[in-house]
Formats: sequence, structure tokens, C-alpha cells
Amino acid sequence: MIYRARTVVTMDRPVIDGGAVAVTGERIVRVGGFAEVCAARADEITDLGDVVLLPGLINAHCHLDFTSLRGQIPPQRSFANWIRSINAKRRELSDDDFLAAIAEGFAEARKWGTTTIANIESLPHLLARMEDPPLRAWWFLELIDVRTDAPPEELVEKALSLGKITDGWPGGFGLSPHAPYTASPRLSQLAATNSTLRLTMHLAESREEMDMFRDGRGSLFDLLQSLGRPMDDCGQGRTPLATMLARQPLDERWIIVHLNELTEEDFALLARGPRFHIAHCPRSGRYFAHSPFALARLRALGFNICLGTDSLASNSSLNLFSEMRAVRAANPAMRAQDILEMATSNGARALNCAASLGQVAPGFAADLIALPFTGRAEDVFEHIINWREPIVWHLAGGILRTL
Ligand SMILES: [Zn+2]
Repeated sequence: MIYRARTVVTMDRPVIDGGAVAVTGERIVRVGGFAEVCAARADEITDLGDVVLLPGLINAHCHLDFTSLRGQIPPQRSFANWIRSINAKRRELSDDDFLAAIAEGFAEARKWGTTTIANIESLPHLLARMEDPPLRAWWFLELIDVRTDAPPEELVEKALSLGKITDGWPGGFGLSPHAPYTASPRLSQLAATNSTLRLTMHLAESREEMDMFRDGRGSLFDLLQSLGRPMDDCGQGRTPLATMLARQPLDERWIIVHLNELTEEDFALLARGPRFHIAHCPRSGRYFAHSPFALARLRALGFNICLGTDSLASNSSLNLFSEMRAVRAANPAMRAQDILEMATSNGARALNCAASLGQVAPGFAADLIALPFTGRAEDVFEHIINWREPIVWHLAGGILRTL
């Protein structure tokens, strides 16, 4: 099948006017000008008309479990209060409610052009009740041992065995020690012993997390102490980032989520070389009124920064176009093309799929979306990041799905 479009944005070469993409099975086989792609081939042609064809978007951090909590938790005075609120809401929901929320989340993400999601799964037993997901998904099984007597070995072993349920689904699975305050050092170290898995963790998200680790005080400190967490890693002048780096190396297998709260000492640590990926969730950060994310500074240090929506318990939609606009609002000088990279090829790198996802190129997965476009090629990236409607056309792994 050949898809013809007014404009094709590949993310690895200049914008193509009058372009086409040939797809065989689940893969892209040729990309270029229409005549070039069609030469000597008798494939069936679908003319998409006045659209820009681009790679499907990649959401590098999301919690589909909480899709039903949109608008349910107003911004709280403290991050600890928000944790209390979400835990209370969770207790009102059944497994069926969570399964419905996950399905609803996939549908919403797809509507807004997402074809790959890195999803934190806090209820991994639900995997056994799910059908093959409609989008490519990485299931990061959440690991928390702050309120359990189960040994970390047992928790990791159980997660690894539940992860096998996703074999054969589009995407993959990984492990997510939740955060340095909810996952013990032993738990996050054990999660990283399987060298083939991707890992993700919330880190340096809130001021309360900084207060807890560095100063041994504050509402998050009080909450976790009341839950019986050993607090001997707090109050020693060590930031959340320094605490994690003292526990274990954070290498290129890790997607570190948030990093809103960084000190000058942290930047000195980062300059020394941990080379994890960073998932930035701009609208979730705004909801919590976290400190501004140091995007330009972290980019200058060479970090691969991708975009996530976080959950609908701290955001209003699973829409990466809105996240891209939030990046632009906070970084007016940043090029639209670089912002789109955060939602496509950078996310693919973070998931260890730099050679198969996030670009329109031969050999890559046929995950493509289209938006109406009648403008000039030089304006196309601005057009994309300013897109405000559901997308008009979507191909996931070569399979056309009706929206
Ligand atoms: Zn999150």
C-alpha cells in the first residue's frame, strides 16, 4: 500500500512536499517524493490529499489506570495531600472500573495521535484480563514496598512473571520502582538486575520530596513516616537525585520522570555523566505548581528528553499536542521541530526503539498519523504543534483503524 500526502514529515530528513510512504505489512518500506516511491511498483495507492503525514506520537509517561479520575482531584495544597486523595479515590474503584479506564485511556490517546504509550501499571494482575491493546504499549509494572512486608525479591519475581502476559503484544514491558520514597533501595536495585528490561521511576518531582530527603521534614516526610517507612535516608543534606545516584547507577535503561526539583549540586552530578532519559510532563507539572522544568539546561547537558502526559488525576487530557504547546509556552525560543522530536523520536530512543519507532523511514514500524495541512513546508512544524482537533487518519503497525 502506498499513502500519498501533500506533505510528509519524517523526523530524519527534510520535509517532503508531494510525498508518499509505501507500507508492506507492519513496516514502512519506502519514503520519498510520490514519483520516486511509486516508480516501477504497482502497489495500491491511497491519496490522503491535503494532509501532513507524520510519525505517530509517543507518550513516554502515563498512568492509564487513572483515566476515570479526570477533574476528580482539584489541585491540593501539598503533594502529600494529593497522594492521600488519589489513594482514597482508588479505594472506590473496582478492577472492572480500572479495566474500563485503561480502555478509555487508549481510545483518548489514539484520538490525539498517540500510537505508542509508556504506561505505568499499578495493578499488574489486570493484565491477565486484558485483550491485546489497540496501541503499542510498554507496560511498566509498578513496584512499591513502603506498605508491605513482602520481600523485594518476591515483588520483583511476581512482576517479572506477570510481565510475561504481554508477550506477543505490540510494545513490551518493563519495571517501575515508583519513586525513591515508595520503593526501597533493595527493590529498585533488584528491578535493575535484569539487564534487558527498560526501567522508569518518578524522581525529584515535588518540593516536598526535596524537603523530605534533603532536610528530613515536610508533609511528604510526615506522611511516609506515618506509614512506617524507615526514614534514615532523609535529613542528611542529600537531594532526591543524589539519594538515587548513591543507591545505584541510572544508566540508559532508565526513563527518569519529572526532575522538576534540581539544585546546583544536582546539576554538577548530572554533568558527570549518568545518561538516563528524561520524561517531562509539562501540564502535570503546572497542575502541581512544581518548579519550572530546566529544559534548556538539561538539553544542553545532552539528555534525551521526551514528553508524557502523566495521568488524568493531574491532567485534563491524554493529548501530546497540548503537552507540546505547554513546552512552547515555557520555552518560546525553542524550535517547533525540536518540540515535535520530544513527542516522537526522543520517546522512541527512551524505549530503546530508535531504529524502529518515532520516524517515517524504511524499516520503521508503520505507525503514522495525518492532519489536514495546506500550508508551506517551512510552516509545517508550527502547524503540527498548534493542532487542536482530533487527528483525521491513523495507521498503527500498518493496520488502519477507524477513528
Ligand atoms: Zn506519573
